[in-house]
Amino acid sequence: MFDNLSSKFSNAFSSLRSRGKISPSDIENTCAEVRTALLESDVALPVVDSFIEKIRSKSLEALPNLQSGTNQAQAIFEIVNAELVEILGGSARRVRFAKTAPTVIMLAGLQGAGKTTLAGKLAKFYAEQGNTPLLVASDLQRPNAVNQLQVVGESVGVPVFAPEPGNGVGNPVKVAEQGIAFAKSKLYNMVIVDTAGRLGVDEDLMREAIAIRDAISPDEILFVVDAMIGQDAVRTAQAFQDGVGFDGVVLTKLDGDARGGAALSITQLSGKPIMFSSNGEKLIDFDIFYPDRMASRILGLGDVATLAEQAKKAFDVESSARLEEKFARGDDFTLEDFLEQLEAMSKMGSMSKLLGMLPGAAGMKKQIENFDESEIVRTKSIVQSMTPIERRDPKVLNGSRRARIALGAGRKVQDVNSLVDKFAAAQKMMKQMRSGKGLPAGMGMPPGAPTPVQKVSQQPAKKKSKSGNPAKRALEEKG
Ligand code: GDP
Repeated sequence: MFDNLSSKFSNAFSSLRSRGKISPSDIENTCAEVRTALLESDVALPVVDSFIEKIRSKSLEALPNLQSGTNQAQAIFEIVNAELVEILGGSARRVRFAKTAPTVIMLAGLQGAGKTTLAGKLAKFYAEQGNTPLLVASDLQRPNAVNQLQVVGESVGVPVFAPEPGNGVGNPVKVAEQGIAFAKSKLYNMVIVDTAGRLGVDEDLMREAIAIRDAISPDEILFVVDAMIGQDAVRTAQAFQDGVGFDGVVLTKLDGDARGGAALSITQLSGKPIMFSSNGEKLIDFDIFYPDRMASRILGLGDVATLAEQAKKAFDVESSARLEEKFARGDDFTLEDFLEQLEAMSKMGSMSKLLGMLPGAAGMKKQIENFDESEIVRTKSIVQSMTPIERRDPKVLNGSRRARIALGAGRKVQDVNSLVDKFAAAQKMMKQMRSGKGLPAGMGMPPGAPTPVQKVSQQPAKKKSKSGNPAKRALEEKG
């Protein structure tokens, strides 16, 4: 979403970094470039002006105090980063839990903003943290909304309170009230109420939302808004703020190619924090909104923190530890291990989204867009068509076995050959890495440092092996 803005920021800072000594007029030029970039990204004018004024004055103030040898461009970059974090809301704000359960969250916003989808995402997110959410179907207007919520609830294993069929039938205020009463009687600790939206802000919509609000006194009203609608998102937010009021914003469709201005304007203009973001249709495409991580992405530094969190969730601790041990022991990395890794990668979600979180991702936009997501599925199907023996020891893969695997996976024999060849090359590289040879420059162990093999061999329980040579040791251990 922020690709354009991100590349503009990168250009502005690389020209600033290329200056030997930065002058006040360089700062003015950078401010002008950043200003244009923000306006092009559809950020609201008052937000742009106050942002630019802050970075200008702070940078000019800091400039004379920067000691010689200090990287001035870096200092200015940090000022911009801090201000960017600030306009995105400062620090992440979590849902406030009610003192007495259930915590009631009401979702409001226009039709099509993504409320029903978000209801499912929130339910999944909180259920995974040990809560017991209940979804309440109070959107009785939009065709199929009740049914959609039931489907979503089922897919995340969260019950849905839906006594009315919807499609214009039923009283949404009553449903909301009954939903809360039901949650109390059944001891659910959280209730997420999906409400109706209209295609545009209108009085009926506001009246209904206000009536639901007054009937259930939610702990949090989340205003759900489609980031793709640009400046309109801010206008709609203001209308909801004046009409119903809300405590936090959820920005949806951040995966779209809109210019992202809404994300940068909405907090400043509504005075309410962005609490969650949704960046895709799938239930896993959802996260807490962290202003610092978003600023980091916009500035082209990527979002390594989120990437690491997702990896931690996907790769279970036991299998990672087992692999690490195997690697240290000198055992071969097998196709079985590879399959495990592929499965964890699929759990992490779309590869292009993951790659997009890497520093400098804006500069690799084309390659990331061209990444063939189905390649992982194809590779997985080949490995899955192998027998456990073949996965453990690909050397047994003769012509007829390869033909059988290709048939089972619905691929060509060449595809199987190519995977086996690539795997053999990767295995060889890992062996070289383990023995400390053949690593790319700068990535090797410092001279004299113990290799992982040596470290493990110092532990008494693993002292079976005698050889100091990892390759020999692997052979010995295989026995
Ligand atoms: P509601 O009318 O507010 O309940 O909106 P829905 O939850 O039905 O969402 C409207 C459409 O937007 C559906 O097709 C969703 O799949 C889609 N959608 C929701 N959130 C996202 C998102 O973050 N990214 C994308 N690309 N689509 C989304």
